[in-house]
Order: sequence, then structure tokens, then C-alpha cells
Amino acid sequence: MINLKTDHEIEMMAAAGRLLESVVERLKVACQPGVRTGELDRLAERLIRSGGARPGFLGYHGFPASVCISINEEAVHGIPGRRRIAAGDIVSLDLGLVLDGFWADMGCTVMVGRVSAEAERLVRVTEECLWLGIEQARPGRRLHDISAAIQRHAESNGFSVIRQFVGHGIGRQMHEEPQLPNFGQPGTGPELKPGMTLAIEPMINQGGPDVYIKPDGWTVVTSDGLLSAYFEHTVAVTRQGPRVLTSSGGAMPKRIAV
Ligand code: MG
Repeated sequence: MINLKTDHEIEMMAAAGRLLESVVERLKVACQPGVRTGELDRLAERLIRSGGARPGFLGYHGFPASVCISINEEAVHGIPGRRRIAAGDIVSLDLGLVLDGFWADMGCTVMVGRVSAEAERLVRVTEECLWLGIEQARPGRRLHDISAAIQRHAESNGFSVIRQFVGHGIGRQMHEEPQLPNFGQPGTGPELKPGMTLAIEPMINQGGPDVYIKPDGWTVVTSDGLLSAYFEHTVAVTRQGPRVLTSSGGAMPKRIAV
């Protein structure tokens, strides 16, 4: 069952989203060559707690940190630790928090220093995929209109979509119904209704779509060793259209014109 939120509940989620956006902005700035991923994790936890929230990922199914940090061929769910970030890396940050009982979930891929032209193109296209998906999150559309918009843009740029991991409904739980694949047929899936809240999170690979989980039990890496990028926002479907709860800008950035 898809859990529709009241206007009040959406405002609660927006408050969580604003706090999360501020944390992510600080992490992006701190994501510099030489910094250990564990340092970013501790910074995130401190900022989340000082905002009166709880780091949602910490302890979730046993995950040992507040942020997933995934570098280059790592797609998602990387565990922060002693590894140092290097110039030329693309670093995916994924984190969630719970404020007054409501979740927000957000992430992005940061380009550290000068990255290759192909890495830059992958990151740009993946962010475009997110915003094209968000554009579909309006009443009367179908869930897989979001999926199809993401898939079409990724594949038309020669990239591929990870199949094993998907976006999701979100609210009082991080993972609520429905599951939201980043691939699918337009015009299919549940009808989108005001009050639905979705974590839209394209995970796009430079090469093939296959991934596997490393022996640490968490880190998802590309099977061909090529790069992967990821962007995520928490979005409410409203009568006025998509409301991006984790972006104060709230709309597709002007520089993204596809
Ligand atoms: Mg998510």
C-alpha cells in the first residue's frame, strides 16, 4: 500500500529535507583530496545531531556509518573508513536523516579536483537523469514514467542503468512502497497522486549495468570496473507538481537544459 502524506506531514519531511541539504552541502565542500572518508562520516554525524536529527543510515540493517561513500567503480553503499580521497576521483555521498519521526534521503556524486572528461559527462548525465525523473513526479503520471525518463536519458548517452537497486517511497520509514526502478515502460505502474513521497535515485554506470557486492557485505561495485554515478532527492508529488524536499532551489537547475 502506498502511504499518502498529509500537507502537514509533507512540511515535516521538508524540514528534514532542509537540514539534510545543509549537511550535504557541507560534505561536498569537505570532499577534498587527502581527506579520509571516515572524516566525512564523522562530520556528517556531528552536523546531523547538532541539527536535532538522527543519522538514519547508522545501524540500518547493521550499516556501520552515517554516510555511504562510494568512489569511482563503487556505485553505492560504500563504507567510510581510512581511505583517502584523491584528485580525479568521483565520490558518491548518500545519506539520510530522521527529524521528528520523518525521513529525508539525498545524495550526489562529487567530482574531486580535475576528473576525466568521460567521468564528468557521466556525472552530468546522471544528475540530468534525476531532474528528468523528478519532472515526471506529478499527479496523473504513472510511476514508471519517472523510471522511463531516467532510463531513456542514460541509455541515449551510452550509459547503463543499475537494475538490482532502486528508488523507493519514503516517509516515517526510509523504505516505503512503492519500489521505484530506474528503468521501465512509460505509462505503467501505479498512478501518481498528491501526497506520494518518493526517493528518486538514478544509479548510472559508464559501462554495463551489472554490479556485485564486495566481501564487506555492503559496497556495490561495477562488474566491469568502470565508473558509476548517483544522485538522489526526496520528492513530494503535489497538485502543483513535484516538490523537491531536499533542494531549496526546488526546481531543475537552469544549467540543466536537456
Ligand atoms: Mg534512497
